[in-house]
Amino acid sequence: MKLIRFGEVGAERPGIMVNGSRKDCSAFFSDWDRSFFQRGGLAQLRALLAEEGHLLPDVPETARWAAPIARPGMIMCIGLNYSDHAKESGMEVPAEPLIFGKASNTLSGPYDSVAIPKGSEKTDWEVELGVVLGKDVSYLASEAEAEAAIVGYCVVNDLSERDFQLARGGQWIKGKSCPGFSPVGPYLVTADEVRNPLNLGMQLKVNGETMQSGNTATMVFSPAHLVWYLSQHMLVEAGDLISTGTPPGVGLGQDPPRYLKAGDEVELSIDGLGTQRQRFV
Ligand code: ZN
Repeated sequence: MKLIRFGEVGAERPGIMVNGSRKDCSAFFSDWDRSFFQRGGLAQLRALLAEEGHLLPDVPETARWAAPIARPGMIMCIGLNYSDHAKESGMEVPAEPLIFGKASNTLSGPYDSVAIPKGSEKTDWEVELGVVLGKDVSYLASEAEAEAAIVGYCVVNDLSERDFQLARGGQWIKGKSCPGFSPVGPYLVTADEVRNPLNLGMQLKVNGETMQSGNTATMVFSPAHLVWYLSQHMLVEAGDLISTGTPPGVGLGQDPPRYLKAGDEVELSIDGLGTQRQRFV
């Protein structure tokens, strides 16, 4: 299944793709959020689709595409999780996953425009595979258990302000949490439809020019390992988003470095998970 959400900011409603069209599920479910996933809502949604999928109303063509999940309890990101991206950043591949947080209110729609932060000269892009949890997990015993807890996958643009992140002291979260810095979607594709999350092509273009072209096959730590690892250190809740790192080709890695400015358009996609597009303003 491909879960979507639609509607204006603050008034988003849950929906689903049926034969390529957006359908409104808001008569049956309040949102694709922690309580939906934690109480097994996905099975109810599957049953609804089988019985009454054809009766679900269409989402109006003009309705905004929102992020496909409700604002998560947390967005956790993994740094330097592609060996070739670590190299372009001039950093070593970490021995254990490098975790950092991103404010969960950065969640934005896949086609929303993004404001360049005040004073920013180093706004940068990062195409990433997003992983969403289907249940609360803590101290998972194995990667197999972790894998079973993953409800689906999505495209994330882990936007970054490199000066705030790297040159101004403190922790990375400062350069990762500017308003609108986590475009997610267009879909949450359920795990049963992603045959191998470790063989997905990923691309990112700036104004039509390919900047990132990679494959999840070169990830250092797999999604299952990351979920297992996180669960050894924190409670990871249903509906939480983990962004699993970026392949080479970010602006910081260009020679000379290249950053986003107002008027630029970024388009990013991952095989089977859809394409997002943002204009920077
Ligand atoms: Zn990242």
